Amino acid sequence: MLRYHLQPCNSDTQGRPTTMVILSEYDLVETPKRVFFVRSGEQNPCPVCDGLLKVIGSRRRGYMDGLGDRKVLMIRRLRCSLCKKIHHELPDLLVPYKRHESKSIEAVVSGESTLTVAADESTIRRWKQWFSSQADYLAGVLFSIALRLGMTSVEDVSDLPPSPLQRIWQHVGNAHRWLARVVRPVVNANFWVQTRSAFLSGKNGLK
Ligand SMILES: [Zn+2]
Repeated sequence: MLRYHLQPCNSDTQGRPTTMVILSEYDLVETPKRVFFVRSGEQNPCPVCDGLLKVIGSRRRGYMDGLGDRKVLMIRRLRCSLCKKIHHELPDLLVPYKRHESKSIEAVVSGESTLTVAADESTIRRWKQWFSSQADYLAGVLFSIALRLGMTSVEDVSDLPPSPLQRIWQHVGNAHRWLARVVRPVVNANFWVQTRSAFLSGKNGLK
């Protein structure tokens, strides 16, 4: 029988913290047991030290798709040959530590109709809360990454739109899958902030 593991993968089996690497080019290959293998030729460096990552195994990562169906992916566990840190490789349809697909969260936080999103009201409220607490930070990280890559300049700061979401869209555009385009560079540069304690605190976290 197929068992679903909907725990966010924020630690390995020994409870040591792990970080993520996000893939943007991949195929999901379904197995007879309805587990999807993530197949990709993409090779990302270690987010912490730029070292070479080597595959050391795999693990299941469950999530809820846009229709509310539970899916299970088989993702790769990678170890850095330099700093020895372990990373989990996630396809960009997911957001680290979140149980629903990126596109569901995106629809909610960009104010599209939530009627099409298969999530309960408290989950939707948490996403909004999460995004409003992170948006400013994410806009700042995207700006600093763009600065480092020479894609923007400090002078551009004077033209920044007031809303954090508008500032985010300045970097990644507002077309479909914009949240995936935010998550990937931020995670792969090791700037993703884990907000799991707020995520799990239930009533206390909701106010
Ligand atoms: Zn490393």
